[in-house]
Amino acid sequence: MAEETRQDQSRTEEIEALYRRYSRAGQLRQRLRRALRSTLWLLVIQPIAAAKRLFDIALSFCLLIVLSPLLALGALLSGMQLQRETRLGQWCKTYNRYSFAPAAGLRGKILNWLHLRNLPVLFNVLKGDMAFVGPRAVLPGELDPREYAARRRYNVRPGILSLWWIRRRANIDYGSELDTDLEYVDSHGLMQDIGISLRAIPAILYGQGVPSAPDKITILGIPLTNLTMDEAIETILERLDGDRPTQICFVNADCANIAYRNPAYLDVLRSADYCFADGIGLKLAGKLLAQEIRQNVNGTDLFPRLCEALAAAGKGLFLLGAKPGVAEDVAKWIEQNHPGTAVLGLQHGYFQPEEESSVLERMRASGAGLLLVAFGAPKQDLWIHQHLQETNTKVAMGVGGLFDFYSGRMPRAPQWLREMGMEWLYRLIQEPGRMWKRYLVGNFVFLFRVVWERMSSRKSLNHDVERAGGF
Ligand code: UDP
Repeated sequence: MAEETRQDQSRTEEIEALYRRYSRAGQLRQRLRRALRSTLWLLVIQPIAAAKRLFDIALSFCLLIVLSPLLALGALLSGMQLQRETRLGQWCKTYNRYSFAPAAGLRGKILNWLHLRNLPVLFNVLKGDMAFVGPRAVLPGELDPREYAARRRYNVRPGILSLWWIRRRANIDYGSELDTDLEYVDSHGLMQDIGISLRAIPAILYGQGVPSAPDKITILGIPLTNLTMDEAIETILERLDGDRPTQICFVNADCANIAYRNPAYLDVLRSADYCFADGIGLKLAGKLLAQEIRQNVNGTDLFPRLCEALAAAGKGLFLLGAKPGVAEDVAKWIEQNHPGTAVLGLQHGYFQPEEESSVLERMRASGAGLLLVAFGAPKQDLWIHQHLQETNTKVAMGVGGLFDFYSGRMPRAPQWLREMGMEWLYRLIQEPGRMWKRYLVGNFVFLFRVVWERMSSRKSLNHDVERAGGF
């Protein structure tokens, strides 16, 4: 009986929906909607596309003129051979991507050394096959065009520069290339393209990361575990199920400077289970020392991803540190954004030494597996080193100013600044009095030490080779 009533009800709803659609008012509504869509297309989307195309034509034309001597040189070196490779363009239409054909011998070497091979791609931009900025031009069949998400990627022309390319070079290529492409497609426009073109300047300097870089590297005497963000999260989850307490430290250029003058801190970093490379300074150091850092694994970017993983694994955490009231606001942020993640306890970071035992007691009673300590470096890492066993937690990590960001007390640098590797500049502007020494002096001191380390390792290598009688 109840089943019949339900069927009757759904039939009535269907008839009502059909009536709404095909009645005069319904027809009028549909026409209005179509008109609105066309107006939007004409007034908003078309001018954006036209402005973007004009930018591409003007820039490629100017570059072709300015770089014509190099183009002529490239043509000569390649023996006047142009190579055509099939790529998928806008709306999945195939086109030929131009480059100078590889040449044999010395001519080929010069062509590659001068990075001239891809210069003819400017003709693709001028012709309209490509844009300056857009998702990477993929090979037919490289992405599945039937998937809706992948199809949306082809709504725009492929580009010479892409948002993913910029993020890879800044070591913040978290997530997938497709998601980054869709982020670009959803927000693209002339200003976005100009911004990405400007961000390409530091990106060229940073160079490309090497995914197959070694798992363990050492920078200024600090042993680092060279992981991607996803690998770091996986490692933390594994350790949460392990039987041995684990200390994790995030090491940035400032930490390396502190460790240089503070032997106790250096010892803690050396004895920690994992030190992750945090920030653009470490990326540059890795590049200079030929030990490429896979990804920027910093606490602030790791935190939301870790909360998601904790929620899925049904695990909770304890928040320790920052000014009174801050950890409470972080707990609220977690509740709103990752409701499955349990905050099992919290405590501000300005308790008296005599309160320490009761704080540790609360930590043990909370049953939290993960402990985040936000006292700033080196205090947080020294504290974890001293008290890890007493906390009864499985994984403890020092997270610096993370609570200030997620409590909403301190805004984080915008994404475009992070893509330029300039988050430090934003922090410097926020707190010039406290940060000028750390960044304006510290960054240079750090890079100087790295260059020195490189030179001394070369010297000792040459010395070893000399002693061994040459190569
Ligand atoms: N802090 C604390 N107890 C202390 C000293 C500092 O809880 O005794 C907190 C401080 O309120 C701030 C964080 O530690 O929230 C340090 O932030 P900072 O920006 O210095 O850390 P960074 O990320 O630069 O290491």
